[in-house]
Amino acid sequence: SDLAETILGRIRDVPDYPKPGVVFKDITPLLGDHGAFAAVVDALADGLEVDKVVGIEARGFILAAPVAYTAGAGFVPIRKKGKLPAAAHAASYDLEYGSAVIEVHRDAFAPGDRVLIVDDVLATGGTARAAVELVGRAGAEVVAVSVLMELAFLKGRERLSGVDVRALVVV
Ligand code: 5GP
Repeated sequence: SDLAETILGRIRDVPDYPKPGVVFKDITPLLGDHGAFAAVVDALADGLEVDKVVGIEARGFILAAPVAYTAGAGFVPIRKKGKLPAAAHAASYDLEYGSAVIEVHRDAFAPGDRVLIVDDVLATGGTARAAVELVGRAGAEVVAVSVLMELAFLKGRERLSGVDVRALVVV
């Protein structure tokens, strides 16, 4: 599609970042292009009726905040451990070496809120899996996880069974 071409043409492969052997998908060329950024935000917000849009620190924030605005929803941050000021739920997930913890405020949602989780890239799915868990523990309902780009070879979707996973482009 036109949108997929727009996105693919503005995501840069950076070899050996953040470490040797990894090819990092850099979304900054896309963010710097108003037309492409706006098209992506509109596509991520399209057709969803939600109460809150969750962004995952840090690149998820950049996309989720304008999606929330466009969708007429509130914005909720999921942050790395220790960054949120008030009482929070925490969930850990495995990294290649070790683990990481992300958090959400306990009072971020009204009971039964319908929630869209937004991030830039779905890789192994560990981050999104933990985000889904946090939203559930905070008393809300995940309607979908939407990402700009899914890296299918890492099989993140398999770790998100039962979740409506949407990607604007799959590579
Ligand atoms: P996962 O937990 O699915 O393995 O990794 C997804 C998380 O790591 C997302 O929050 C995403 O921002 C980040 N990430 C992993 N790989 C990439 C990449 O190649 N490009 C970008 N922009 N983010 C990535």
